[in-house]
Amino acid sequence: MTEVLIVGASFAGLTAARELRGRDVLLVDRSPIGAHQTSACALPVALAEWLGIGEAILHADSLMRISVGRERWDVRLPEAFAVIDYERACRLLAAQSDARFQQVRVTGRDGDAVLGADGERLTADWLIDGSGWRRVLDPAGATEGRDPRLVIGTEDHVPTAPAPRADGFGFYLERSLLRSGYGWSFPAGDHVRAGVGSFIKEPLRPAMARLRERDDLGPGREHHGGAIACVPRAPVADRVLFAGDAAGHALPVTLEGIRPAAYFGACAGRLVNAALAGDLTAAEARDRYRALHARHLGGYARLNRIQRLYRYLPEPVLRRLVTRGVGAPARRGGEVAFRSLRYLDVLRPERLPALP
Ligand SMILES: Cc1cc2nc3c(=O)[nH]c(=O)nc-3n(C[C@H](O)[C@H](O)[C@H](O)COP(=O)(O)OP(=O)(O)OC[C@H]3O[C@@H](n4cnc5c(N)ncnc54)[C@H](O)[C@@H]3O)c2cc1C
Repeated sequence: MTEVLIVGASFAGLTAARELRGRDVLLVDRSPIGAHQTSACALPVALAEWLGIGEAILHADSLMRISVGRERWDVRLPEAFAVIDYERACRLLAAQSDARFQQVRVTGRDGDAVLGADGERLTADWLIDGSGWRRVLDPAGATEGRDPRLVIGTEDHVPTAPAPRADGFGFYLERSLLRSGYGWSFPAGDHVRAGVGSFIKEPLRPAMARLRERDDLGPGREHHGGAIACVPRAPVADRVLFAGDAAGHALPVTLEGIRPAAYFGACAGRLVNAALAGDLTAAEARDRYRALHARHLGGYARLNRIQRLYRYLPEPVLRRLVTRGVGAPARRGGEVAFRSLRYLDVLRPERLPALP
């Protein structure tokens, strides 16, 4: 029997597969690897390098522009962030694992078997669910798009020819765009990734039109989007370990999901590997994964509270909060430094000990 079946060949699933090199791993996804980008794909450069996807970097920068209403802060981050080419990154990650890949649209489970839409019945000693917000291996059934725990986002890739833009990562905390959420504009080589994310599932098309007008954006050449899961769910159910959005691991407020997906994907892969090697029992591996997830619940709860409160914060309060976090707005004296270092210090897979 296959040792490990991983559902989802994106950030969580591919990072787990990389940790399981040398094992008999079957990786399945409903699409070919890297075919369906949902994300703006911004992540710390150090993480991209650790993942071995440096060649997929389109733009790297440590400047962040935050706007609240008409006020703007130019913030120097303590480390550089990158925007990556999703398909290339997934292929580079997949090349570092020796997992077999099969295109299967998983529809659920029947006892020990994972079921595919074309009648497949797949079995394995271990199951890892990296299927994103859909959480397709949940014994209670997959999550539906209307689930109130989900946040939604969408973005356009807008060409910037003839000159690539390099004016940092723009974040727009502006009520004129969305009641609860934010807009962004990230340079990505020959295009900008301009998008909007709503914490309360507001209609995104009009918000996108307002962003287009705000930044005088031309037509997009690519358009994508989807849901983001940032409310933690059970990390283990039956014999399944859930990682990334499948366990609600995306970070609330910022909606950064790649870093946690890589972190929990790496942890799940390492623990399963240790169990297969006989260094841990299956129960110990599952308990350690549960404990790891539990250690971060306080942080997720705090960020989720801020995300819920966000819609009730008037812009002057928001301005004061940003000023407290990063310093004076740009017009009062150029760049300021990012102060909230703890946010960037959590969920760093590149700093994990060998076995979490
Ligand atoms: C518009 C937008 C912008 C974003 N921007 C950023 C950003 O800049 N930086 C950042 O860190 N995060 C960002 N995020 C969040 C980030 O994309 C997610 O948190 C991250 O992709 C989660 O990774 P994952 O591997 O858990 O799941 P996903 O990346 O969602 O991958 C799930 C995989 O499972 C597969 N799958 C799903 N259902 C099935 C099925 N039934 N059968 C088989 N396979 C299946 C999918 O095809 C996919 O390959 C953004 C999200 C959105 C929507």
